[in-house]
Amino acid sequence: MITNILKLSDRVNKVKVSPTLELDAKVKKLKQQGIDIINFGVGEPDFDTPNNIKKAAILAINNGFTKYCPVTGTSEIKEAIIEKLKRDNSLVYKSNEIIVSCGAKHSLYNLFQAILNNGDEVIIPSPYWVSYPDMVVLAGGNPIILKTDDTSGFKVNPKDIEKHITDKTKAFIINSPSNPSGVTYNYEELKKISEICLKNNILIISDEIYEKLVFDDFKFTSIAEISAETKENTIIVNGVSKAYAMTGWRIGYAVGNENIISAMNKIQSQSTSNATSISIKAAVEALNGPQNSVEIMKKEFEKRRNYIVKRLNSINGISCRIPEGAFYVFPNIKKFIGCNLNNNVLNSDIDFANYLLDMSNIAVVPGSVFGTCGYIRLSYATSMENIERGMNNLEKVCK
Ligand code: PMP
Ligand code: GLU
Repeated sequence: MITNILKLSDRVNKVKVSPTLELDAKVKKLKQQGIDIINFGVGEPDFDTPNNIKKAAILAINNGFTKYCPVTGTSEIKEAIIEKLKRDNSLVYKSNEIIVSCGAKHSLYNLFQAILNNGDEVIIPSPYWVSYPDMVVLAGGNPIILKTDDTSGFKVNPKDIEKHITDKTKAFIINSPSNPSGVTYNYEELKKISEICLKNNILIISDEIYEKLVFDDFKFTSIAEISAETKENTIIVNGVSKAYAMTGWRIGYAVGNENIISAMNKIQSQSTSNATSISIKAAVEALNGPQNSVEIMKKEFEKRRNYIVKRLNSINGISCRIPEGAFYVFPNIKKFIGCNLNNNVLNSDIDFANYLLDMSNIAVVPGSVFGTCGYIRLSYATSMENIERGMNNLEKVCK
């Protein structure tokens, strides 16, 4: 029996552990037991952090850059972010419109804490990154899910945004390129979304963490580029985790309206303080240093994407659209639901993912954790050799 002393808060009881991180922990444990699992589960680049970035961190340690720094980040990192936004996105921001946090996840967390009152609604297109709804709930808000599927290429129809707006709507999240679908919006599509949000006084939250990973010469556009008015109504969230293979360093940032950033500063100053000083120095090098490693990783991801999509589409019962960006594929596996495969009755995408783990040693994430049943997510941020082996295994157990 749980006594009152040990009882948890209502707040924490409303959320769950990140399912992608939970699956990753499970796979790592199985691997430790000597089981050869091919991990398509977690979304993190398999490449090592580039050497110039590591060296900058080592130098920071040797130079004693190991103390507290300003909560929202040093002027050096802010300058690097300002330059990056000018260079890549033609956007001009001031230093007091930037906050550096412990990963883009932390930036988003601070943001929801800063803008939401109890009952405020945030429109989140599904399939969505697993953490958005729970972070909104933790801040007292209500996630309002706007469903999409592969018949529209997972793209939000701007008119559907309007259908989900109420007098409680506070914000709309756009994640382009998207985790998990890889869908990426072009300038014209972003313009229409922006018009609806501006007309209805809704803040745009633009999660641009996969900005650098767009393929086939697709030109990435930030929604803040649409107009000065859109820029004023948008908070951009970005970071170095995915583009520079720096997931463990924990550096992300948010840019936008000074008042919102200052409110996020308040929350961060009472929780984590500054992001790690050493990682900040490494991130400065990532943003200011040579960018050729980003290009090399991107080319490799594109090669893997082409291969994995081809292999998936050659399997009877699976259909997969070609994602424009990120490093995930999100194939439709609805044809297997309700089937009996090798004496396993599959009633959901969760059953299908468990079946793959048990029968073919491949870890994938069921679509339902992203709010979209009947699909699975595979991260191809793993070696070509693993992808080949994984696809061979998958092919065998789908018969
Ligand atoms: N947004 C999306 C869509 C992601 O996939 C991730 C990856 N975890 C993040 C934000 C957070 O990235 P990080 O905290 O590692 O910077
Ligand atoms: N964004 C990655 C994923 O979706 C990392 C895991 C997480 O932060 O939840 O797999």
